[in-house]
Amino acid sequence: MSDSSLKNKIEFILVEPSHPGNIGASARAIKNMGFKNLSLINPKDFPNDESFYRAKGAKDILENVKIYQDLTGSLKDATLIFGTSARTRTIPWPTKTSSELTKILKTALENINTKICFVFGREISGLTNEELQLCDYHLKIPTDESFSSLNLSHAVQIISYVIKMEIDNINSTTELKDETQTFQDNEYLIDHFDKVMKLIDFYDQENPKQVRTRVRRLIKRLQPDNLETGILRGFLSKIEQILNKKN
Ligand code: SAH
Repeated sequence: MSDSSLKNKIEFILVEPSHPGNIGASARAIKNMGFKNLSLINPKDFPNDESFYRAKGAKDILENVKIYQDLTGSLKDATLIFGTSARTRTIPWPTKTSSELTKILKTALENINTKICFVFGREISGLTNEELQLCDYHLKIPTDESFSSLNLSHAVQIISYVIKMEIDNINSTTELKDETQTFQDNEYLIDHFDKVMKLIDFYDQENPKQVRTRVRRLIKRLQPDNLETGILRGFLSKIEQILNKKN
């Protein structure tokens, strides 16, 4: 697997960036590290001359940028999603620092249809809890604790540098596996769990106590492969069948 085809498996996603300059600077940052896939979710002001000015020699990245209306749309075929954030949130999610990416990235890159997304938040307010819960891992760049929020494009630069270093270390003769589940496969599994839990009155729907979010977190943490997902979906379908027969 060549270095550039591994890099093509990586996607950088900026959610609702408000400053066109940050979009350009992010394009430049990723191209400096050999990446090319940039997506924007509902950008406030794009295309804009300031973006192209700040991109310098990375204008091609901006010309090929993909634009979506919401984050879910951009994640459909993602197989691994990292949400970046300077802050920890109410329901703690598996969180990694940029230097802990090594093992996860290596395993993911060894899969054939991998698409690894790095999601970055708004300049003012970052990512919402809901957006962060769509991710498999949260990623924090260690900073001084008293001043932890980086400029958006600087965060993109650091993360893209760390991924580049990782890809440089991957042996080009590594054999690829085919076990990847996409974001959409996982969403179907989460929906299926939720449907069966509701059918058997597993939780009080008036007071769900974030059961669905916790199941979501469990599945994201487990990252079941094709076979395991098949077993879980089959198991849930069997419960549905038994309940249907009874009714
Ligand atoms: N005030 C916002 C920070 C937004 S900075 C907040 O408190 O969430 C814009 C984006 O840059 C963040 O959403 C995140 O994607 C990225 N970022 C900034 N600092 C970071 C850090 N220390 N670790 C990881 N990502 C960071």
